[in-house]
Amino acid sequence: MYTVTNPATGELVEKVPNATDEEVRAAIERVHRGFGTWRRRPLAERAATVLRAAELFAERADELAAIMTLEMGKRINEGRGEVGVVADIFRYYAEHGPRLLADEPLPIRGGQAVLTKEPIGALLGVMPWNFPCYQVARFVAPNLVLGNTILLKHASICPRSATAIEQTLHDAGVPADAYVNVFASSRQVPWMLADPRLAGVSLTGSEQAGTAVAAEAGRNLKRCVLELGGADPLIVLDTENLEETVKTAATARMRNCGQSCNAPKRMIVLGEWYEEFVDRLAKRVTEYYIPGDPSDPATTLPPLASTAAADEVTAQIETAIREGATLRAGGHRLPGPGAYVEATVLTDVTPGMAAYHEEIFGPVALVFRAETEEEAIALANDTPFGLGASVFSADRERAVRVARQVEAGMVYLNKSGGSEADLPFGGIKRSGLGRELGPLGIEEFMNKKPIRL
Ligand code: NDP
Repeated sequence: MYTVTNPATGELVEKVPNATDEEVRAAIERVHRGFGTWRRRPLAERAATVLRAAELFAERADELAAIMTLEMGKRINEGRGEVGVVADIFRYYAEHGPRLLADEPLPIRGGQAVLTKEPIGALLGVMPWNFPCYQVARFVAPNLVLGNTILLKHASICPRSATAIEQTLHDAGVPADAYVNVFASSRQVPWMLADPRLAGVSLTGSEQAGTAVAAEAGRNLKRCVLELGGADPLIVLDTENLEETVKTAATARMRNCGQSCNAPKRMIVLGEWYEEFVDRLAKRVTEYYIPGDPSDPATTLPPLASTAAADEVTAQIETAIREGATLRAGGHRLPGPGAYVEATVLTDVTPGMAAYHEEIFGPVALVFRAETEEEAIALANDTPFGLGASVFSADRERAVRVARQVEAGMVYLNKSGGSEADLPFGGIKRSGLGRELGPLGIEEFMNKKPIRL
């Protein structure tokens, strides 16, 4: 069952039944047939349709943001911002797609060849609730320009976002059989992947979901992109403005109520700065992040996406404290039906404690002390994850030197997280496979076909 429950109030809003197996098979057939026609549309026409989608998303930002606030508690302003990024992603691929898809001369020793770039077929998207519009856009925009078609299974707490996204794409001129939303359950996904009419799958979500989907994709020899969890390090080597660095770190960690895969979940601060950093961070999160109604633009700390999520984060905080962590700010679940957890800072998290190894998907910052640059790098890399990282230093050369040694899919200097349409995004280790966004994001489900001339 797809269920809308307002996480700010606990109110049950709507239930939408799951699609039957027959309905799922019919949806697969639609995108399979749709591929035959969509791929033959001229590239300029596909790009123009995607550009129109960018315009419509921008126009509908308020409406989409309100849906996300209701379904998963996103702050209304963050929702509007998210849809702005979505519009930018669609615009980027509409404008740059034709260049990225142009044939490339391929010099070979014995003559001439050209590298052509073709779509591979109908793709399945399995998407999460934390950025209901943005996660879909990253997968859909490049693939529609490329000529693939999309069957989308959204998170079961976001049926209204799923429907609104589908409607917006269809209103933009994407044919009804080139983008199809299906209210499938995760139990139906394995046999969907076995269906030869689907050529690949992209999943954003948890490690558990990722490994399950990757196993099925492997069994069926389907291409697979996975964007999973992270425990991104934010390394502070030195700073000319500690208050500003603390504010940037807090903003990045608390964005989306801490439910971002690439939030800086582990802050690693060199000894010289450590005590002052922790004190200021604790003060900042206590004074600035005040729980409130996510539909009020003045609110700084919204609920988590569900009571289950709030329970889990609270349990992780309690376990950390029981295992020896020091609570420096927050730490408590708020009473009442809303899914609120205080903005929290923990220190003294050491190897062997659950919090050291797990991802905490909520408003919880862990701060670690390192005495040297080498120790900071070792700590940063001591994790099963490898999504993003950020390095703070006034010395560009020093920051780049450290950035090169961090095991991550992407590193930011003197800023943290965020997402840009033209900058590739993705992880290594247990954070996933493949890349989204930028020029690389259009290549994942592409048949790079050389033609020997
Ligand atoms: P899930 O990974 O369970 O959900 C993401 C999507 O995957 C949903 O559409 C879900 O469907 C689907 N799914 C779940 N299990 C399977 C499966 N076995 N086979 C196929 N599809 C599946 O995330 P949760 O909502 O449970 O969040 C749990 C944790 O995941 C978070 O605490 C966080 O650590 C991580 N996460 C990371 C995200 C990221 O951005 N990288 C995003 C969201 C979560 P359904 O909703 O129907 O279960």
